[in-house]
Amino acid sequence: MRVGIVGAGIGGLAAAAAFTRAGADVVAFDRPGAAPAGAGISLFSNGLRALDAAGVGEAVRALGAPPELPAGIRTPRGDWLTRTPPSSTADLRVVHRGDLHAILAAAAPAVRIETVAEIRTTADGAAVVLESGQRHDFDIVVGADGIGSRVRSTLFDDPGIRYAGYTAWRGVTSEPVQVAEVGETWGRGERFGVAPMADGRVYWFAVASAPPGWPVPDESVEVTKRFASWHPPIVELLRATDPRTILRNDILDLAHPLATFVKDRVVLIGDAAHAMTPNLGQGGNQALEDAVTPGRTRRRRGRPGRRASAVRLDSPRQDGADCPAVPARGPDRPGGQPGRRHAPERFDPGDAGPQRRPRSREDARLAAARAGQRPEMTGTGPSTRSR
Ligand SMILES: Cc1cc2nc3c(=O)[nH]c(=O)nc-3n(C[C@H](O)[C@H](O)[C@H](O)COP(=O)(O)OP(=O)(O)OC[C@H]3O[C@@H](n4cnc5c(N)ncnc54)[C@H](O)[C@@H]3O)c2cc1C
Repeated sequence: MRVGIVGAGIGGLAAAAAFTRAGADVVAFDRPGAAPAGAGISLFSNGLRALDAAGVGEAVRALGAPPELPAGIRTPRGDWLTRTPPSSTADLRVVHRGDLHAILAAAAPAVRIETVAEIRTTADGAAVVLESGQRHDFDIVVGADGIGSRVRSTLFDDPGIRYAGYTAWRGVTSEPVQVAEVGETWGRGERFGVAPMADGRVYWFAVASAPPGWPVPDESVEVTKRFASWHPPIVELLRATDPRTILRNDILDLAHPLATFVKDRVVLIGDAAHAMTPNLGQGGNQALEDAVTPGRTRRRRGRPGRRASAVRLDSPRQDGADCPAVPARGPDRPGGQPGRRHAPERFDPGDAGPQRRPRSREDARLAAARAGQRPEMTGTGPSTRSR
């Protein structure tokens, strides 16, 4: 089976690794000049298990675990609003994005640096048309081209992007900095988050309400000025960060959920499918879940064939239940609900059956979202976790 992947970010590279592991012939494309973002990323247990499925979980875990420290939410003066025990983040890994990218890239075929201009569905597959005019035919095409996805805008009923009302700076200290506590600090219209990495360097993020595209002459000066009076070690972290590496992004998400992630033999994953605000630290983790689901399904069933690309990834949100790597929730698991079962995989490479009937309140919520109603979880409210 030939698989074309548009975009080689976290999701695209993980999909390339997973499909390659499943025996597919994979070609991934990315635009010239795209560099892995230079800050950190929080990987939760769902993302780590998806990385296991892509064959790189151990390599990522080998980067090391962050120190187990008291965590919670504080005021700018340093008073605790909520506290959580160190064990609550025992599964968390905070890694440099560049390291994650390098591990995924080593498990995937070399990426072809060419901008994809268009996707065309065909009778038995889909074609990727490059800006150079070249055309490549595949059995399946994966749209992993991020929040501004061209695959989504050309083939899907694109809801468009909206600004969440705030902008975010991110950085990683150039050297180790001692921190005694982790988590977030909440001020009025501003937040700051601290997440140490295994090697002692610290990933931090800062968030402020601002108009979209707000021009700032010097991001480092601006963020330092804004948080200068906040509790230690915030200023120390900013001083220990090379100003040239500080990133700033306006926070965006999709205006409303897509009705489907699948169009004939094209499937959207990651931000292309369900770009979300970073408050739950799940955008990358869920891109990883999406990425490994099709490849694993194919490997497990061993039915490559030409019909392999009929897909049934037909819900606007899969909420983790569809990732084969994620354990079922149940009454014996934290957060589980009695009677909730692990949903069947819906990316079915062999059989595009009829749409399932809603079986639970969650399914009913998803069905309502499909009908145009906004689900609760895409809000832009205050953060409850570090990213
Ligand atoms: C401030 C901030 C903090 C975050 N923190 C976390 C966190 O801690 N944990 C977490 O899980 N998530 C986090 N996220 C979200 C996470 O970064 C994204 O959800 C994730 O990167 C999405 O991965 P992706 O592969 O879908 O898209 P992307 O990473 O955007 O990759 C898309 C790729 O497609 C390429 N591309 C685009 N168009 C074309 C084209 N026409 N042709 C060829 N290639 C193309 C791009 O060059 C890019 O390489 C955060 C986001 C922000 C903004």
